[in-house]
Amino acid sequence: MTVMNDNLQNMIDPYLQRTKVLYVEDEEVIRDSTAKFLKRRIKNLLLATNGSEGLGMYRQHCPDIVVTDIMMPFMDGIEMSMGIRAINEDVPIIITSAFNDEDFFLKSIDIGVIKYIKKPVNSAELLSTLGKVARAVSQQKEIEAKNEFIKTILDNNPTFIMITDIDEIYFLNTSFLNFLGFETFDEFMEKGKNLNRFMVVKEDCFYKGKSFNVWIREVASGQSTDYVVYMSGKDELKSEARAYVIHANPIPELQERRRYLITFTDVSFIECDRKKFQDMATRDGLTNIYNRKKFDDELQKEIKRSLRYNNYLSLIIFDIDHFKSVNDTYGHPTGDLVLKEITRLVSENVRKYDIFARYGGEEFVILTPETNLAGAKELAEKLREIIQDNEFNEVGKVTCSFGVSEYVKEEDPAGFVKKADYALYIAKNKGRNRVKAVEKEHSFFFNLPY
Ligand code: GH3
Ligand code: MG
Ligand code: MG
Repeated sequence: MTVMNDNLQNMIDPYLQRTKVLYVEDEEVIRDSTAKFLKRRIKNLLLATNGSEGLGMYRQHCPDIVVTDIMMPFMDGIEMSMGIRAINEDVPIIITSAFNDEDFFLKSIDIGVIKYIKKPVNSAELLSTLGKVARAVSQQKEIEAKNEFIKTILDNNPTFIMITDIDEIYFLNTSFLNFLGFETFDEFMEKGKNLNRFMVVKEDCFYKGKSFNVWIREVASGQSTDYVVYMSGKDELKSEARAYVIHANPIPELQERRRYLITFTDVSFIECDRKKFQDMATRDGLTNIYNRKKFDDELQKEIKRSLRYNNYLSLIIFDIDHFKSVNDTYGHPTGDLVLKEITRLVSENVRKYDIFARYGGEEFVILTPETNLAGAKELAEKLREIIQDNEFNEVGKVTCSFGVSEYVKEEDPAGFVKKADYALYIAKNKGRNRVKAVEKEHSFFFNLPY
């Protein structure tokens, strides 16, 4: 051995230093001398005297590299290598042998032996091979650790993440799997394989009537930035579906088929706010029943509906009697309580499809679909009595006056309301706390142009 060679061999290889090597050799002299040489460079060297012992040690210690002889008692090197392959498909196996017939080479190719070193083993050759393999193992470990790191970040992200090439799904992060009710991605692939049964289709949603591949391709094409899907998880009702904004990002990689990282961000709270604002825009702040604007919208709709189905449609307007004196006597806040109390009494006594709204200060309206004038008068009378009989705390008795009208064909909404308002005016004039109605045959008076 030359001086230079010896120096080279004495140099500490950092990759080799942190690599665990299993060396299997039955001949004591060879094993001892090679081990002695290797031990100076490899901290973690495991020794076995035959294949069976080697396999046992592999199981127990999971070394990074295996160096083995072929001809050994109990279990030869080929059989041991096959046993190791059954446990780990990738661990590098190096064979040292004097044995070289064709059958043996074919078997070692099958096993995926990465290097064949002829006996007697040249230490420098073995060391240089081990060094190269150790470097590759180390780099592979680094890549795996990086992948693991990225996967941890993806998995713990509350945003749902999917990797797909449009046709197939390759990855779902843990938060997504949990939501869908799967323990692992494999379970998802076995049982579900797609999102269909978690999707909730709503009117006007962009994926309505489209298969997963079609709508996900649309998202991936990035034509729009506001794709929203509704999904309900494993334990959630369809009615409790949450809203997710989805974005697609192409993944830079060498694969032929482009893959996309698709994120699903929960935006249900925005939806919630939207509903809240919508509610605020349609409801009266004090009583929380519909406001006048909402009533006007509903009036238009109900008129159309009654015309389409030829149904009755009636209207009740009522106003609190002498409410000014309630405010004057007990104060405005107490007046507010009276307004709320009346709202409660009326709400409890109208049908679900009746539209009850605060029309003005102390004036209310009830639109009653599928109800004729007689029915609406009856309801108004019932409400009048309920209010009259109620005890309004410190205020005591409060009464209301009611005006009722029924919609006639070709009447405009304003005429319809005007009729009920006129009837209310009559009720007030006749002494209050009573119900008055405009009969259908008098409708035309109210629809004359001024
Ligand atoms: P009438 O029997 O003719 O209807 O007499 P009235 O006193 O009820 O009628 P008027 O129109 O003279 O007075 C209505 C009162 O309702 C005056 C107004 O201050 C009060 N009002 C309107 N909106 C509210 C409210 O939100 N809270 C309270 N406390 N009072 C209100
Ligand atoms: Mg041997
Ligand atoms: Mg009044």
